Amino acid sequence: LIIGNGAAGVTAAEAIRERDPHGQITIVSGERYPMYSRPGLAYVILDEIPDHQILARPPQWYAEQRLRVVYGVAVSVEPESRRVRLADGQSLLYDRLLIATGARAVPPPYSGADLEGVVYLDTLDGTKELLRRVKRARRAVVVGGGITALEMAEGFAHHRVETHYFVRRDTLWASVFNAMESKLLQERMIEHGVTIHFNTEMREVLGDKRRRVKGVRRATGEVFPCNLVGVGIGVKPQLEFVRATALKTDRGLVVNEYLETSEPDIYAAGDCAQVWDRWTQTYTLDVLWPTAIAAGRAAGINMAGGREAYLKGTPFNACLLFGLHVTAIGQLGNRRGDDEPEVVQHLSRGSSEVWVSRPHAYTSAWSHDGPNTLRLVLDGDRLVGALVVGEQTLADPLRDLIEWQADIRPLRPYLQAGGPEMARMIHLFWRRLKTSNGATRPLAETPPAPVVQTH
Ligand SMILES: Cc1cc2nc3c(=O)[nH]c(=O)nc-3n(C[C@H](O)[C@H](O)[C@H](O)COP(=O)(O)OP(=O)(O)OC[C@H]3O[C@@H](n4cnc5c(N)ncnc54)[C@H](O)[C@@H]3O)c2cc1C
Repeated sequence: LIIGNGAAGVTAAEAIRERDPHGQITIVSGERYPMYSRPGLAYVILDEIPDHQILARPPQWYAEQRLRVVYGVAVSVEPESRRVRLADGQSLLYDRLLIATGARAVPPPYSGADLEGVVYLDTLDGTKELLRRVKRARRAVVVGGGITALEMAEGFAHHRVETHYFVRRDTLWASVFNAMESKLLQERMIEHGVTIHFNTEMREVLGDKRRRVKGVRRATGEVFPCNLVGVGIGVKPQLEFVRATALKTDRGLVVNEYLETSEPDIYAAGDCAQVWDRWTQTYTLDVLWPTAIAAGRAAGINMAGGREAYLKGTPFNACLLFGLHVTAIGQLGNRRGDDEPEVVQHLSRGSSEVWVSRPHAYTSAWSHDGPNTLRLVLDGDRLVGALVVGEQTLADPLRDLIEWQADIRPLRPYLQAGGPEMARMIHLFWRRLKTSNGATRPLAETPPAPVVQTH
């Protein structure tokens, strides 16, 4: 039994079916669609694709795989009787259970969050509703410091709504971008007609008598009229239905490397699971599409009797924001919590290239050439992160170098030189390692026992 018809749940079903042609597989689906691509919603609001094109499996696929789909919402799990109850009163028994219920947008923590005209880019139904409202809106405010809020702002502007983007800090996508990268995106946003309000916080959404959005109040007390508010301030695993069980949860359902929860024969994968992260050395949520697929696959193999460890790979997120290609790989944030990195060396080649050093030998090399920038974050002799903006040919090689924890000492002189020679040498170095294998570090690592709360 699989709860959740998303990337993790469907991939798990596929992996089970590959190993077990006859077993009965049931998927509980909270939405009345076949599995669809949630990242694709960003392209739907830009009118780049019609909504039916984001379906990742055709409806008949489920029958071909002999998967039974039950439409409904799981409201409780009873591990003692191996039973899941749905909101409509149905009860389903399981031998093995996968919880793959994903995560949903967090509503804003201030009053007015429930007014008509507060929208999220989150589900297919929610996106259809957003599109209906966007066509009638004149002025919109978008809040949130990350990618979803930026995608919403781009979508609103595309539909010729006067769009105001409120951001609490003085940089865009501050968990990823430095000041220069933020500037590149800022220029694009302005070209697309978005007005950016830095250092601006919203305190309240204001409604009219019919409970429709009529404006927002900023932290300064000032009222800003608008009739649409897009919210992208983060996501939260959908786990209300397990709260009454002994399943161990922290921010998500805590699982070991085999995706097993604290209860026998219950697995979890995707956005709702909290997995070991060897980069931060903590159990973290892993809310990305490729990782949901990889974890779903491992969970399915294990549910079908295999023993496959899931090792969280290097975070890799490629996106297109206001026409700018951005790929964020590995650790880009300031993981030691230090302030802005200190600049230790400036180089003059190209339009601007700098080496910066964070305290504790945490360094980053950065090369900027018009709309193309490349930032490499190093920890000693290992690459731990890369941000590739514009030209993308180095994205895959850099992901591998980070994933392999390759010793990049031979590359250092070229990193400092920057420019096309640096790009050529990164490619060459990557190709050599790819064919020689032996130069990379083994990745497997057994996580320590999770420290968790029981609800
Ligand atoms: C707008 C947007 C853009 C994104 N862009 C990117 C991107 O560029 N790159 C990237 O890597 N990731 C991106 N993501 C994240 C990515 O989509 C998720 O990480 C991925 O979909 C997680 O898959 P999942 O199977 O864990 O959960 P989901 O895809 O959320 O599927 C969970 C399913 O469970 C169902 N469900 C939940 N609760 C219940 C219940 N109680 N009973 C029954 N069914 C239930 C839900 O209806 C849903 O169908 C984006 C997400 C959004 C919303």
